[in-house]
Amino acid sequence: MFLALLLAAATSAPPALDAAALHAAWARERFVPTAAPCLKHLELGERLLALERKHAGRLALEQVGRSFEGRAIQMLTLGTGPKRVLLWSQMHGDEPSATPALLDLADWLLSHRDEPAARAILEGATLYLVPMLNPDGSERYERRNAQGIDVNRDALGLATPEGRLLKSLRDRLDPLLGFNLHDQDRRTAVGESGQRASIALLAVAGDPQGTLTPGRARAKRVCSLLVSVLSPFVPGAVARYDEDWSPRAFGDNLTKWGTPVVLIESGAVPGGGRFEDLTRLNFVGLLAALDALVRDDVAGHDPEVYEKLPRNQPGAWADVIFRGVELLQPGTREAYRADLAFDVRRDDRELAGCAARRPARASIVEVGDARFLGTSREVPGQGRVLSAPFAVAVEGLAARAWLDAATLSRLARLGVGQVSWAVPLAERAEAQRHVDGVSAPGRPRLELAEALDQGLQRLERAPTEPRGRGLAATLESLGLPPLAAGGKPTLAQLGALTGFRPGFAPGRPASFVAWTVGSDGEPRIDSVWLDGEEVPAP
Ligand SMILES: [Zn+2]
Repeated sequence: MFLALLLAAATSAPPALDAAALHAAWARERFVPTAAPCLKHLELGERLLALERKHAGRLALEQVGRSFEGRAIQMLTLGTGPKRVLLWSQMHGDEPSATPALLDLADWLLSHRDEPAARAILEGATLYLVPMLNPDGSERYERRNAQGIDVNRDALGLATPEGRLLKSLRDRLDPLLGFNLHDQDRRTAVGESGQRASIALLAVAGDPQGTLTPGRARAKRVCSLLVSVLSPFVPGAVARYDEDWSPRAFGDNLTKWGTPVVLIESGAVPGGGRFEDLTRLNFVGLLAALDALVRDDVAGHDPEVYEKLPRNQPGAWADVIFRGVELLQPGTREAYRADLAFDVRRDDRELAGCAARRPARASIVEVGDARFLGTSREVPGQGRVLSAPFAVAVEGLAARAWLDAATLSRLARLGVGQVSWAVPLAERAEAQRHVDGVSAPGRPRLELAEALDQGLQRLERAPTEPRGRGLAATLESLGLPPLAAGGKPTLAQLGALTGFRPGFAPGRPASFVAWTVGSDGEPRIDSVWLDGEEVPAP
């Protein structure tokens, strides 16, 4: 009897939103066509106005505050139901993934308002959406606001207008659930899996003991639902965020003040995907969560699913790892076996295709045993010796006649990673213009100096076409003195020669030359890596 009732109830309930269909529909129906990192405050304002015009009378657009620098902070309100939900994004200016998702979500609900699922959400909930809570930080693409304050550590101090606004919205609206939408380090791994997290979730604690109030239990069920809904799109890439009580943070205090918060941290771009796929995951996850919230208060989603998620593991991942390579530190004669792991630093804007042109920078993450680091690119190191690249010195402004883009590219292929260019102070500005004009990824760092660096080999002219990839031919091409009179130069001599400072250590630039050693003992250039990128052959 009881079972029959249960079955009847289960069959009469409307089916849950079809996440796969939503995921597919987003590509066609997204309201904001701009990739999140490229969306600036000005364009956001125009998109919000367009959304208001498109759905006139069905949503409210309200300027609820101003940033420290006076930029408008706007809130969208839609739906008429009793369950009030507050969602805000980009309180950290360089964490944009969810911002377009909030507009996409509002547009989707109102465009599909005659269909049962959208209607149920609009009739069951009132949604308050604040996209880009920190527009000043967003404009600079920085975490903090224009006062230099981390808005998410300002819940108690309330020194920022953005923080005061969020607090006042909570107090005025008294929502039963909040969504705090962020982006995290895109190299954070899922537990010990060696896989990066695309999404990390947290049902935020409201006190140091992590007391389980009914509201927080609901937040945990929402997190479990998000795991189920999002995992098919990013298998194994959903992690649990650090749950420690953070006394100054907004999520923690909003939970304490009576609005339990779900934190969604967008992380790694899903494999083979585009940056916008993070926005898409937010869109799908948030709609599914709202659907479940109005339907049955997210019943049937066991908090254990969330609680058993592997933890976020920061620092467990590197972009590239050379496994078991031989390293030759500058100024030493003996190579030693180690792993070399490094990150290729790319700005999100660069990944999304909207960055100003500037060289990528990369730095070393680990030297030594990197077996527990995950990576997307593993280079077998066997048979290769890595040395620091050559550093050379050039003197006088007149050198700009030959210190051009073609010369720098050739220098890179010859293993030069740094050119220290001594120019008198009076000619500094002119030299800097030249540096700006010829600097680019894949070329040596051209750095101005006041005096000729006596510790470096001096370069007098553009390099000639090398006769081969061997060390002797390389030195000849650079016009540097040969290391071995008559015979072939050796690895030990190379170690003593290279002048690039610093050498291999975490935090230092990922620039090096990979050598192979021939049967005659002479090192030959195998490849050159500058700032994490292999320099292409001519
Ligand atoms: Zn954040």
